[in-house]
This record gives sequence, structure tokens and C-alpha cells, in this order.
Amino acid sequence: MEREAFGQFLLRAYRSSSFRLILFCILTWLGVASLVFFLLHEGRQQIERKAEIEVLGVSAILEARLSGVFQRVQSDLEQLAATLPAEAYAPSAAPASRGDVIRTLRMHSRRFSEVAGFRVLDANGVLVFDSRGAAAGNSFAQRDYFRVFDRGGGNELFFSEVHTDPLLGHWVLGVSVAVRRDGGNLAGVIVALLDLSHLSSWFESVAVGERGVVSLRRLENGEVLLRRPFLPEQANKPLPADPLQRQVESGGRSGFVRFHGVTDGVERVFSYRRLADYPLYVAAGLATEDYLVEWRRTRLFGCLAGLVLFLALALLLTRVLKAGGREAETAGRLRESEARYRMLAENSHDVIWTVDIPSRSYTYVSPSVGGMTGFAPEELVGQPFDVRLTQESALRLAREIDLRLRRIASGDRAASVVVSEFELVCKDGAQISTEVVSSYLLDADGVARTILGITRNISERKAAEHALKESNRQLHARIEEIGRLQVALQELAVRDSLTGLYNRRYLDETLDREVSRARREGNPLSLVMLDIDYFKRVNDTYGHQVGDEVLRTLAATLSADIRAEDVPCRYGGEEFLILLPNMPLETAMMRAEAWRAAVERLSIAHGNFQLTFSISLGVAAYPDHGKTPDELTRCADRALYQAKHDGRNRVSVHSL
Ligand code: GH3
Ligand code: MG
Ligand code: MG
Repeated sequence: MEREAFGQFLLRAYRSSSFRLILFCILTWLGVASLVFFLLHEGRQQIERKAEIEVLGVSAILEARLSGVFQRVQSDLEQLAATLPAEAYAPSAAPASRGDVIRTLRMHSRRFSEVAGFRVLDANGVLVFDSRGAAAGNSFAQRDYFRVFDRGGGNELFFSEVHTDPLLGHWVLGVSVAVRRDGGNLAGVIVALLDLSHLSSWFESVAVGERGVVSLRRLENGEVLLRRPFLPEQANKPLPADPLQRQVESGGRSGFVRFHGVTDGVERVFSYRRLADYPLYVAAGLATEDYLVEWRRTRLFGCLAGLVLFLALALLLTRVLKAGGREAETAGRLRESEARYRMLAENSHDVIWTVDIPSRSYTYVSPSVGGMTGFAPEELVGQPFDVRLTQESALRLAREIDLRLRRIASGDRAASVVVSEFELVCKDGAQISTEVVSSYLLDADGVARTILGITRNISERKAAEHALKESNRQLHARIEEIGRLQVALQELAVRDSLTGLYNRRYLDETLDREVSRARREGNPLSLVMLDIDYFKRVNDTYGHQVGDEVLRTLAATLSADIRAEDVPCRYGGEEFLILLPNMPLETAMMRAEAWRAAVERLSIAHGNFQLTFSISLGVAAYPDHGKTPDELTRCADRALYQAKHDGRNRVSVHSL
């Protein structure tokens, strides 16, 4: 069960692109790292083999050279032992034979550059002869190259400890051979002293690197006779526990061994080689540090390259994962936002749609189109954009799209959103008004390819607007009517209803104003008061209505012959008063006379009769007859009374 769950977990993880990417990077890095590791390993193996071959070559060369030297030394020593006379071992030898011995020794010595000299010791270890002519008598009885034979050692060649020879003063290796009498007693010892500096120069000449080691050792205990670099304190020291020694003791004539130096701790690969006929062997060691320098550099580069690759992959991975994360986040947000907008579109009362501009056809229409027009979205998607518009709206829309596209193409971004109104024909043939908000969506190149639009049914709003406009118009008409009525009312308030002339109230106001103005401006002002003569009789004779008719006729006659600024007024009953601004008394008298004459000429038809009448007029003027409205009115009244008194049908002026 757990395995199954783990398997499913792995499967799910593998389906994730991030996981696959991480896996790919890890595998790539592991692949490259393995390859680098393998190449480095192979390279090291090859270098190790090459080092072994090199070190083997070095040990072989040295072994050959040393064997050659020792063979020649042995041969010379054996030859000397066989040929030197018995006196050569006696300090008391005759001078003649002494000379022969020394010559012989010198001759042998000269044949070898490696040999510093030959010596002949007597049976007690005392120097008898020296090829370099050193004084006889020095005892070498304590030297191992003598003592080995003195103690009864065999007749083989003996290799001494390396030491500083007291006579030569430098480091030498003594190679000695015993000379025995017939009875086997020791007669003397012949020693060849090999110059260690000479042998050292061979060691120096071989290529074993900076930390390389070359040594000549004794087989039996690993004692070091010669070494490069030469360390006097290590000379003649047995090294039984030395790994090289143990290998030599257990192995064949030659072999390899690798170990860390006891004294310096340096790891080396050693090749040893036994000298053919002698108890010695040569060992050459190359320090791992020396021959692996190049390889280690390559390894460093390899590791660095691996590290760089690792970092690069890690960086790439984090970048890609981050970008992937952002992309996933963006995609998530996009999905969310799309769902939100889809939800809005699907649930909006308005119709939301998209139109592909190149084909000018719907690519999406929200379901609310059903409620608005009766069409299902499927009936409109793929149809031309103007399919359900009225002819006028379709033409307007085509013009508008062309205009917007031109403006957008010329870089006018403000042209990408437009609000318009179109008339639309529903499925049932009814026409509705719509408000359309169109947004032109631009692609990355700034070219408009899609229109995103929202259509709203504004029929009700339109109707309401229309109704509002109508009621507004009616309201305006009413207001105008009221205005007119107000004007009329105002007129009525100042007019006399029977004659249409101004009433007495209006006259009082006007007279006050005009007298003030006349005073202010220094202009004349006249007042004419008139009264119908014997009017009572008219009423009595013809009736009140005829009397009214007479009043109206008189008013019309006066009104027809006055200036615009004159104010005719029915003062009361059948009395009239005419205010004449800016008119002097004389002119007023002339005007009064003209009215009197005009009335005299009037004739009103009544049945078979022609009714005539006359008027009497009194004239007064500002400022001569009065300076206030009351004074003026009184004077005009008095002048009228005077006219009545003087016989009527005449004009009278107030006499001062
Ligand atoms: P006199 O020449 O002295 O003025 O004589 P008169 O008859 O005109 O006398 P008075 O001025 O006293 O008479 C006025 C008459 O006018 C009395 C009245 O019946 C009449 N009258 C007043 N107002 C009206 C009116 O509005 N209509 C009619 N038909 N008669 C009116
Ligand atoms: Mg009167
Ligand atoms: Mg009268």
C-alpha cells in the first residue's frame, strides 16, 4: 500500500515540469561529473603507470652502472689478490718490490675514475700500501672492511659502511677482498675505495623529480649506503621495518612499492632492483606530488569546471523555476480573471460581445442577448456585426469603424474606446435603442484586431428622456402663458375696463413721477382735464349703455390723437385727464382745442338718431400753475369749471 502511494507520488512528481527539469539538471550534472571523474581516474592511472615505467628505467640504469663498476672493482681486486707478491702484505718489504706494488696499485687505480684508491692492509689491519702513496703504518684494524675478514669472514667481496676516509678526507665506500695464505690464515686485505661523490653524481644525473629519491642499500637489512639526496645521518643505518626493505626481502629481483617516506612523509612510488651478484639493491622513488602536478592541476580545473557547471545549472534552474513559478502564477491569475470576467459577462444584464475586425463578425456573445433581443448567442456568433442593426445604424457603424481604425493606425490611442447609440431589430421585429461601448483591442504591433463591446438596452431611458423633453416643452409653454397672463394682469390693474384708458391709480403714480422728472430736468409738463357736457341727459335720454358707448368713443378719439409718451386716463365717471410730459402750456392748449373740435365732429348712430356731444377742457401747466401733482390737478379742475361756467364746449386755462 505504501509502495503504491509512493509510486503515485513519484508519478505525480514526474508529471510536474519543475520536477522533470530538476531531474534533468541533476542527471546532466551527474553525467558530466562522472565523465570528469572517469577521465581524471583514467588519467591518473596512466600517469601512475608512466611513473612506474620511469622509475623502473631509473633503477635499471643505476643497477646496470653500479653492477658494472662493482664487477670491474671485483675483477681488479681479485686480480691484485692473485698477482701481488707475499711481501706486499709485509711492512718490511724490500724497497724494490714496494715500488712494484705501488705502481701496480696506481695502474689499477687510474683505470677507474670511480675508485679513489687501492689499499693493501696486512694481517693486522695496518696499511702497507696505498695507491695514492699515503704513509704506511696507519691502522685500519677497526674498519669493517678489515674486521669482517679478521673475524674469519668468507672470501667474497665485502662492501663496507660508507665513511669519511681519514687519509682521503672525503666520503668513500670500501670494497675489500681477503688474501689468504695456503693454510687459510689471513695474509692481508686489499681495499678499493670508491669515491662516493662520483657515484652521487650518477644519482644526481637521473631524472626523479624534485622530491625524488635514489638509494643504494644493503640487501640484508636495508642499510643505506648511498642516497640522493645524501643524508649523512641516515648513512649505514639499517631499516628493517622500511616497507621497501620488506618488499625487497619478500620479492624477486625487482619490483614496485608505494609508501609514505618515514622521515619526510612524502608519498613515492619506488622501483627496486637487486644488483646481479652483490648483496645490494638500488631503489628509485618518484614523489607522487611531482609526477601528479599536471594531473592535480587538471583535477582542479575539472573540479572547478564541475563546480561552475553545477552553479550554472543551479542558476539556470532557479531562474527557470522562478520564471515557471511566475508563469504559473500569471496563468493562475489569468484563469481567475478570465473566470471573473466570464462570470460577469454571463451574468450581466448588458450584452457583452467580441467582434473579429478583419471579418467583422461576432466571435462571442454573452447569454443576456436572449433577454435583450430574443436571439440565442449561437444565432449571432459568426454572423456579421451589423446583421440586426437598422439600415441607418449599420451605415453609421461601418463609417465609425473605418474612422476609428484610421485614427488608431495614425497613433491616436484615445480613439480606441467609443460610446455610440444604435437601433437594433429584435427577433420579434421590435426595434430597440441601444448604447454600445466599443473598445478596440490592439495586438503587440499596435494593430486593432478585436472589438470588445458592451451593449445596453436604453429604450426605456430613451422613452423616459422623450417624455421628459415633452413635459419640459409643455412646462415652458405654460410658463410663457403665465408670463403673458401676468403682463395682462398688470395691464388690467392699471387700465380702466370700460374705455381701456389708464385708471386714476396709474395716473396718480405717473403724475408723481413725471412732475419729479420735470422738476429735475427743468422740462415743461401740461395737464388737460375734460368733462362731457350734459352727459346726464345722454344717459337719461338714451340709456346707460349708450352713455357707455359715448364714453368709449370719446376714449378712442383721444387715444387716436396723442403721442406715445402722453398718458390718457379716465379720471372718474365721465371726466378724463390727459398728462402731457415735455409739453408747454400753449401746445397743450392747442392739443385740447384739437380734441374739443374732434369730439364736436363726432356723431354716434343710435337707431334713427345721430347722437352728438361736446366736451369742456381745462388746461394747467407745470410749473406756472402748480409745482405739485395736487396743485396741478386742482388748477386743471378749476380751469374745467371755468370752461363749464363760460358756456361749455370750450377750452379754458387756469387764470393765475
Ligand atoms: P354738466 O355739463 O354740468 O357736466 O352736466 P352734466 O349732466 O354732465 O352733469 P354731471 O357731470 O353732474 O353728471 C354726471 C352724470 O354722468 C351722472 C351720471 O349718471 C353719469 N355717469 C357717471 N358715470 C357714468 C357711467 O359710467 N356711465 C353712464 N352711462 N353714465 C355715467
Ligand atoms: Mg361731470
Ligand atoms: Mg358733465
